[in-house]
Amino acid sequence: MRRIGVHVSVAGKIWESLERAKALGCNTMQIFSRNPRSWQAAEFDPSDIENFRRLKKEYDIAPVAVHIPYIINLATPIDGLYKKSIIAYIEDIARADVLGAEYVVTHLGSHVGTGEDKGIRRFSVALNQIINKAGIKTIILLENTAGSGSCIGYRFEHIKRIINALDHPERVGVCLDTAHTFESGYDIKTKAGLEKTLKEFDKLIGLDKIRVVHFNDSLSTVGSHVDRHQHIGKGNIGLAAMKRIINHPGLRGAAFIMETPKKTDKDDRRNIKIAYGLLRS
Ligand SMILES: [Zn+2]
Ligand SMILES: [Zn+2]
Repeated sequence: MRRIGVHVSVAGKIWESLERAKALGCNTMQIFSRNPRSWQAAEFDPSDIENFRRLKKEYDIAPVAVHIPYIINLATPIDGLYKKSIIAYIEDIARADVLGAEYVVTHLGSHVGTGEDKGIRRFSVALNQIINKAGIKTIILLENTAGSGSCIGYRFEHIKRIINALDHPERVGVCLDTAHTFESGYDIKTKAGLEKTLKEFDKLIGLDKIRVVHFNDSLSTVGSHVDRHQHIGKGNIGLAAMKRIINHPGLRGAAFIMETPKKTDKDDRRNIKIAYGLLRS
């Protein structure tokens, strides 16, 4: 069975996110486990955790991906922020584990002008510490980025270098964002371009490492390094290419989760319907 869903809000009780996902017609979803722009996280009520786990099973919503807050930067040269980020990350991965979430999705962070090599090294050291300290089941997915500013992770080589530096590479997979892939310069709009891109990924990292695809069209152009998500089929990747992506044999095992623009639930419903419509039976 294919898994298709969207990022849903956790407003109210944490388990209400599952109600929302179900009402939208999702069988997988992504959430923040807390306010993504704040360092403070309110503790979960045990009864809310119980409800979350029960409903997740009952509605068969899997995998659940928890996105790490934006403020965490594991590639930062600023010592205080670096340490704070590692502590917050360990807290977040523990929160994901308690909820029974299969994955934690993380951006690779920003080197803030100190250079990619140093940024990648700092990120690898931090991630190693996190995995060794957290000691839990949830798999960490490294998400490729558009490469805006001084963000690392916009080349597959960056992800490969990080995975190679880990004591436990089996604890880590990849979340491939289609908009970021396109924006960072991989031309997945054409059939040949998609094949070339996925072949390159397979050679460097292995397509089986891709557990989640962030299935987003892009409002900006190929290689623009500008991160602008767009509704499926309404962006510069386009419907025909999105269809090739969702049906690609190398990506079939991954959950497809959209982070498309949303004014009302209608937007999510429409994108989910379009995504299902693209599936070749
Ligand atoms: Zn994404
Ligand atoms: Zn994005």
